[in-house]
Amino acid sequence: TDPDANADLAVLVRSIPDHPRPGILFRDLSTLLLDGWGFRTAIDRLIATLDAGRVDLIAGIEARGFIVASALSYALTKGKIMLRKSGKLPGEAVGIDYALEYGTDRIEMHVDAVRPGTRVLLVDDLIATGGTALAGVSLLRGQGAVVEEARFLVDLPALGGADRLAAQGVACRSLLA
Ligand code: AMP
Repeated sequence: TDPDANADLAVLVRSIPDHPRPGILFRDLSTLLLDGWGFRTAIDRLIATLDAGRVDLIAGIEARGFIVASALSYALTKGKIMLRKSGKLPGEAVGIDYALEYGTDRIEMHVDAVRPGTRVLLVDDLIATGGTALAGVSLLRGQGAVVEEARFLVDLPALGGADRLAAQGVACRSLLA
């Protein structure tokens, strides 16, 4: 694919050095979200990479992943799953701890959100090391879901996350690198 294909969206992403820790170059998508055309275009272009007939549910990772998952879910008339931070879900939940680029975290899901064989598209705003997304894949697969596709607005390829997902049988596409 043409690396400049989404240059019009790339200019809407702000880069903030040393957030939330020294040495992290934070790719701030709040500036893309402020732009109505930018967000709509980003969602439309993500949809163009999808075979919606092969998706039963869309799983978004808290918190920025919810924004992307929600828009895709609405546009494609698919249900969605919230992969939430620890202790937020009211029903019976199952969780997994994972390491991320800065620190550790935990995500949880309701145990009745999927049935064996449910085909889930995993979505987040950005993939860096892939630790978060891989945790989501493990969590969903542990409940019987089939997870073969993941989508992100931004990939940081130097951190290898997309390759790690591919090694686990999850095809990854992102708009920006
Ligand atoms: P990772 O688990 O390393 O793939 O990190 C992905 C998660 O952390 C995503 O939910 C991102 O929102 C966030 N994240 C990690 N690194 C960055 C970064 N450099 N800029 C913005 N968000 C980041």
